[in-house]
Order: sequence, then structure tokens, then C-alpha cells
Amino acid sequence: MLPLDPTADRGRRAWVPCPRCQDHRDCDLCRDGRTCPDHWRYLLSNQGSLLHLQCSTCAHLWAWDSGFGAGIRRTAP
Ligand SMILES: [Zn+2]
Ligand SMILES: [Zn+2]
Repeated sequence: MLPLDPTADRGRRAWVPCPRCQDHRDCDLCRDGRTCPDHWRYLLSNQGSLLHLQCSTCAHLWAWDSGFGAGIRRTAP
């Protein structure tokens, strides 16, 4: 088992490329910007546009600025 953050919740996910394992690179779904069932990140918390994420693959923890004022939106294709 990966050492997941105690606040990690499978019900709260974000589709952001992981800067560590970059497991999205060889995945057609991720490259298309779709909601891949394999490569997603735990959304631990957010402060405005800054999201605190943990990778579901390698358990890497990082913060990512979504660029949006509040909440999570996906860019239209
Ligand atoms: Zn990762
Ligand atoms: Zn994927």
C-alpha cells in the first residue's frame, strides 16, 4: 500500500499530470484530456485556485495552481 494522506478520498479526484511519475504520457485518454480511470490524483484540499494533490500511482504530494478562481473546471476540448 502507498502511504496515502489520511484526507485522501477516492470520491474527490482531479485529472492533473503528475510531475513525478508522469504516468499520463503513454495514455491516449490522458493526452486527450479525458477523465482517465487509471491516472487521476487525490484532491486533498484546495485554497482558491491552488489544489493540493496526491498521485494515485506514486503517492507524490504537490500543489498545483489550476488558474481558476474557485472550484474545479475542465477546459473544453
Ligand atoms: Zn505520480
Ligand atoms: Zn490515463
